[in-house]
Amino acid sequence: MIPSSFEYFAPKTVQEALGLLSKFPDEAKVLAGGHSLLPQMKLRLATPKYIVDIGRISALSSIKEEGAKLLIGALATHHSLESSALLKEKCPLLSETAAAIGDVQVRNRGTIGGSLVHADPAADWPAAILALDAELKLVGPAGERVLKAQDFFVDMLTTALKPNELLTEIRIPQLPPRTGGAYLKMHQKASGFAIVGVAVRLTVDASQVCREVGIGVTGVASKPYRARMVEDALKGKKLDSAVIATAARKASEGLDALSDLHASSEYRSHLAGVYTKRALEAALAKAK
Ligand code: FAD
Repeated sequence: MIPSSFEYFAPKTVQEALGLLSKFPDEAKVLAGGHSLLPQMKLRLATPKYIVDIGRISALSSIKEEGAKLLIGALATHHSLESSALLKEKCPLLSETAAAIGDVQVRNRGTIGGSLVHADPAADWPAAILALDAELKLVGPAGERVLKAQDFFVDMLTTALKPNELLTEIRIPQLPPRTGGAYLKMHQKASGFAIVGVAVRLTVDASQVCREVGIGVTGVASKPYRARMVEDALKGKKLDSAVIATAARKASEGLDALSDLHASSEYRSHLAGVYTKRALEAALAKAK
């Protein structure tokens, strides 16, 4: 289907983009890579009257280190994150997650900001962003605010972002020594989206005792979540396969897992445990 007609704007600064969003409240949509918005528009699930294409705001594409944080612009593409030498050195979990997204075309166009704001319950980035305890910088007419990733995801396709705000930056705290990360997913064969995906950030001491752990899970519920019960079962424990296996079984405890054409609720819950265990083992091997 052809999208309904719209007026197109290509601002060159964040302020210009914010001005347009405020000028057309509830009728304007931000366009980044277009890989989620355009399919929605073609199906007429989204019919914005005004498109604000932020693709020319080059300041939003940077990937850099500042103080104790990695700062990632919302417009950084999946490919630029996958291939960044800085991320491979400082936070390989991000490169690994980017490499797991869709195919080459999707990774060349799609952006981390677009993926987070779209909040597809099967998207890959939210798992890694939650596991890494990232912060998201949102800018609106009244200034900026910074949200923890866990406060950003509200429900299926719904975030805490207001219609007149832009997500401009994702901030990743520095990882301490002896930290390993892993992202593993069972993917849907046609699109690559996660049926279940688990990202782990794990810090151990010299005796392999778990000092810090963050586990982000996508695909299982209507929104991505931190597997806190697994984290609590691991913290302070000397990690071996039995401890990891017991904790991982709690990955979807207390949740109503989604059920669809690709996987039943029971199967998704089972996969959540299996992939949590595998991701923890992979992260531990790297942490050592
Ligand atoms: P857009 O489509 O441009 O925008 C998405 C939404 O976010 C829109 O509502 C837009 O208004 C809003 N938005 C975008 N940027 C901002 C911003 N900075 N501030 C405020 N609002 C903003 N994803 C996966 O995670 N895993 C996969 O395996 C996967 N496979 C895919 C396969 C195919 C064939 C396709 C088409 C997509 C796939 N995707 C997958 C989705 C892909 O990663 C998209 O690129 C991503 O979800 C959206 O990013 P985008 O830059 O294209 O955003």
